[in-house]
Amino acid sequence: MTENFAVIGLGRFGASVAKALYEMGYEVMAVDKDPYRVQDFSQIVTHVVEADSTDENALRALGINNFDIVVVAIGEDIQSSIMTTLILQEIGVKRVVVKAKNDLHGKVLYKIGAEKVVYPERDMGLRVVHNLISPNILDYIELAEDYSIIEISAGDYFDGKSLEQLDVRSLFGCNVMAIKSGKRINIAPMANDVIHKGDVLVVIGHNDDLLRLEKRN
Ligand code: ATP
Repeated sequence: MTENFAVIGLGRFGASVAKALYEMGYEVMAVDKDPYRVQDFSQIVTHVVEADSTDENALRALGINNFDIVVVAIGEDIQSSIMTTLILQEIGVKRVVVKAKNDLHGKVLYKIGAEKVVYPERDMGLRVVHNLISPNILDYIELAEDYSIIEISAGDYFDGKSLEQLDVRSLFGCNVMAIKSGKRINIAPMANDVIHKGDVLVVIGHNDDLLRLEKRN
């Protein structure tokens, strides 16, 4: 089981990852080269260290290879982000998650061995756009290039109909994964479960099909 994490770079993204992990009970070492950031973080995670992650010896001295997952959250300085990721590979860190600024940056990171690349600004931008275009779309998660999961507030089209009657799977090629009604969540919806206006449906599908469903709602 994953138990300890290191987070390198305490900008907005890195800081929120480090805090959230610590609050969930994990051991977190936070690293930043900026002494002011380090000072701000002194009470927030298990350890906070001032170090430049492009310095291999500094990372070795921190025992970074003892951490199960290292998150590299340096966004602006692409060169430092790439060098840090490379050094972590050299040192033998098994699982490295890196924040990328753009697609090209992300491709390089995968090539040099990052396990996962995240694009927080792009993903949040997409979520906001979906919500603006269709206020019924409450949330949006991109799964792959063309596939997503959306949370959609049921409108008139769904009201009073069972999943069997709606037949979302054959009409729209999408799958209803869960139905939220107030505080209750049905995570294994059955064909005869009836949906009411205002229920929230969690739907997975191809983006084109999800869009057709959104329009119908
Ligand atoms: P965000 O949008 O999440 O606020 P960002 O993408 O703008 O952040 P940066 O501001 O470039 O990211 O960097 C985040 C943090 O990483 C900063 O606090 C910076 O001091 C730190 N940082 C940058 N380079 C290094 C490095 N080589 N070693 C350690 N920390 C670094």
